[in-house]
Amino acid sequence: MRSEGGLPGADAGRLGIQIVWHEDCLLHQPGGEVWLGTRDAGTEVPDRATTILAALTGAGAPIVRPRRHDSATVLAVHDPGLVDHLATIWADWEAGGYPADYGRDRVVPYVFPTEAMLAGLPLRRPAATHAQVGMFCYDTMTLIGPGTWEAVRAATDCAATAAALITSGRPAAYALCRPPGHHAGPAGYGGSCYLNNAAVAAQALRDGGAARVAIIDIDAHHGNGTQAIFYDRADVFYGSVHVDPGAGWFPHYAGFAAERGSGPGAGANRNVPLSPGTGDEPWLAAVDELCADAGKHGPEAVVLSLGVDAASADPESPLQVTAAAYQAAGERIARLGPVAAVQEGGYDLPSLGEYVLGTLTGLQSGRTAQ
Ligand SMILES: [Zn+2]
Repeated sequence: MRSEGGLPGADAGRLGIQIVWHEDCLLHQPGGEVWLGTRDAGTEVPDRATTILAALTGAGAPIVRPRRHDSATVLAVHDPGLVDHLATIWADWEAGGYPADYGRDRVVPYVFPTEAMLAGLPLRRPAATHAQVGMFCYDTMTLIGPGTWEAVRAATDCAATAAALITSGRPAAYALCRPPGHHAGPAGYGGSCYLNNAAVAAQALRDGGAARVAIIDIDAHHGNGTQAIFYDRADVFYGSVHVDPGAGWFPHYAGFAAERGSGPGAGANRNVPLSPGTGDEPWLAAVDELCADAGKHGPEAVVLSLGVDAASADPESPLQVTAAAYQAAGERIARLGPVAAVQEGGYDLPSLGEYVLGTLTGLQSGRTAQ
């Protein structure tokens, strides 16, 4: 690691980037996921966050607590109906006796009012609590338990606080968000995501004075939620490298190269889907493509959706990217401008800390090398 100048505290071998973290992010205990009709243990577990935290504090990174933001911060990128649902559904679920009387210890949808069901009829709010869930949750993998809402709000506070650090002049900051966020759209949630932390950060940067923001998403999966939130906006560029949904991977219905934005946002969306098995060199070439496109957009600040599930050992994706490549990606993305990094996916506990630390080390050295 380079040690000259740049970030305060960026001594050789020490990570000077501030880590925004709140322990409420551990309160979300999804209790597994229902995948293809069967409840599995799931991989989006609290140990992910503690593992990352240990790696970063071990490298000397300073920890800062997030500032509590009011609901306006999330309502700037999400519909009130979604936010209200997430805030109240667990209490409604308990009041309805689902855990105590029916053995349903987590909120999970079972009926979805898709166009295939409605066939042109207007969407009505159903009377039954268990039927309301499908209005907002678009898969069966994204369960809600007693501490989910507290964790979701703590994660958005971390993201907004990291953005505020950038607005105040820091070259980089990192929000250790859990649960992740990039699959949460304007009015819906899924993919182990509830509210969109990266979108909250991007909007906070805009509100803090950045005329244009670029989001670079290097999670192994396409951030369909982030794309949807900014798809028709010219002020926030979204670029993603991910495993090709056309090869059969989540989110299946979005993430294709032809999705380039619409209306004023035409051209401000860029997807680079990669084949399963793709390794470092083509992955970094894709990151370079995204950075080149984002650079043309003229960003004054950058949000990095930092999923490290493209790691070779990760159980959730078939990409084969090393920690060294993640570090190189961090260096390249840092050259775009000041970066608020937001944790997304990454599920291989033994290597998770190394990948996140590597990326942040790259961000730090990329800035000091300028
Ligand atoms: Zn992912």
